[in-house]
Amino acid sequence: PLVLGIETSCDETGVGLVSGGVLLGDALASSMDEHARFGGVVPEVAARAHLEAMAPMVRTALQRAEVDLADVTAVAVTAGPGLSPALQVGLAAGKAYALAAGVPLYAVHHLAGHAAVDVLDHGPLPERCVALIVSGGHTSLLGVGDLARDEVVHLGDTVDDAAGEAFDKVARLIGLPYPGGPAIDRAAREGDPHAIAFPRPLTGPSDPPWTFSFSGLKTAVARWVEAHDGPIPIPDVAASFQEAVADTLARKAVAACLDQGADTLLMVGGVAANSRVRGLVEERCAAAGLTLRVPPIRLCTDNGAMIAALGDLLVRADVEPDPLDVAADPRARLTGALLHGAGHGA
Ligand code: ATP
Ligand code: FE
Ligand code: MG
Repeated sequence: PLVLGIETSCDETGVGLVSGGVLLGDALASSMDEHARFGGVVPEVAARAHLEAMAPMVRTALQRAEVDLADVTAVAVTAGPGLSPALQVGLAAGKAYALAAGVPLYAVHHLAGHAAVDVLDHGPLPERCVALIVSGGHTSLLGVGDLARDEVVHLGDTVDDAAGEAFDKVARLIGLPYPGGPAIDRAAREGDPHAIAFPRPLTGPSDPPWTFSFSGLKTAVARWVEAHDGPIPIPDVAASFQEAVADTLARKAVAACLDQGADTLLMVGGVAANSRVRGLVEERCAAAGLTLRVPPIRLCTDNGAMIAALGDLLVRADVEPDPLDVAADPRARLTGALLHGAGHGA
């Protein structure tokens, strides 16, 4: 197969071409800068940017892969979850390319795509694993079986801020630039991670084990900064906050693996780039006898290759494609069945 993947759930227009588990080429455009002055992604602005970037990104990806649209044997596109106007553009484009090329269409779930992308660099996933998806938009633990057989379940999510969002908000609080994650990572190198005992949210014995909450941690940092006399010790605050996030993520992810009987943890999302998150998760996985898989950072964030990788798995497993009238689902849930099929009664 040769699968064209299209991703437009948020502010990235991603296109990828995957064949038999190999990434042949991809292209990515982002409208991030256009949203900066609004303080968050504006759905209509993102949709318009997707509309403008779509054809150029498809052309670029085809060129990089050195293939033609006529060589494509299936199209996979994100149908949800995500921003409705943004999803509509990608789905409409996916349908148009499928129709033009006369090939089947697969409408897929964004989070399943995040999990699927690791096959491109590290080969097939084990029979069972847990995926920790940590970015500016998500903090989710997934139980992952055979992606081609819809075996993905949501174990838990954040009830408020995503981990990346917490990095961004805390950075702003202590005067570091946006995006906050890399800035905090850098500042923390000079700091003491045990200088300030920030809370590890929802890690108590009676707390829901797979649920995250980062807004209280952000408030704890704000309170500490307010109460502190004199100049803020930025490196110590950064290191201590980062340690609290890393410790919380590592504890819950490792516990989820043990609970699910999974010997592999998959970590993706922009926050997977954080040096302490990676370091601590790696350490805890090793101590628990778990294998940690992290895709290359470039493929950890939203991209088209992940959707093509998932589509490629579906095609190779002979999964029924979706009808061309399949609908986008901005609130798509993983219920053990992938979104694939969800638009028509699954
Ligand atoms: P999605 O739609 O998948 O949630 P997103 O655009 O919201 O995507 P990503 O692009 O995956 O998120 O990642 C961006 C987030 O990752 C930002 O919140 C950023 O602060 C965070 N991040 C990036 N690098 C680091 C780092 N080194 N440490 C901590 N956080 C980081
Ligand atoms: Fe994403
Ligand atoms: Mg992004």
